[in-house]
Amino acid sequence: MYGKSVREKLEANNYKLTSQRAVVLDVMSANRGQHLSADEVFFIAKKEMPNIGIATVYRTLEKMAAMDVLHKTVFDQGKYRYELCDENSHHHHHIICLDCGAIFEVQEDLLHSLEQHLEEQGFKIVDHELKLYAYCPNCLKVEE
Ligand SMILES: [Zn+2]
Ligand SMILES: [Zn+2]
Ligand SMILES: [Zn+2]
Repeated sequence: MYGKSVREKLEANNYKLTSQRAVVLDVMSANRGQHLSADEVFFIAKKEMPNIGIATVYRTLEKMAAMDVLHKTVFDQGKYRYELCDENSHHHHHIICLDCGAIFEVQEDLLHSLEQHLEEQGFKIVDHELKLYAYCPNCLKVEE
């Protein structure tokens, strides 16, 4: 299930959790650590609620991303993928395999020391985003 900070964000935005929206949120919280496209969310949500519409799923994901409940990133071919924002913690970064397309999460964040360094120079850093492209260990193994 999702925690307090998600509920607070929904409330702060006056966003009512209708049963359809709740299904979308449930799919996202049940798939923590995954990076789901709208189509994938739709596919899973349909099992819960067969009459849910793709347009509703799209709209709900977009709205929740705008409220910072979900984090939205472009990975492959301009397609957005969504994941639930971690409770009060810094977002993580991603490594994308150029071969199999798998998305890995990077928990180390060396950018914080860079941010600090830049703030000492007078900048006020608001956010950062980092994507690394690589060949993953599995793909490299196959090629050997
Ligand atoms: Zn790979
Ligand atoms: Zn992620
Ligand atoms: Zn970071």
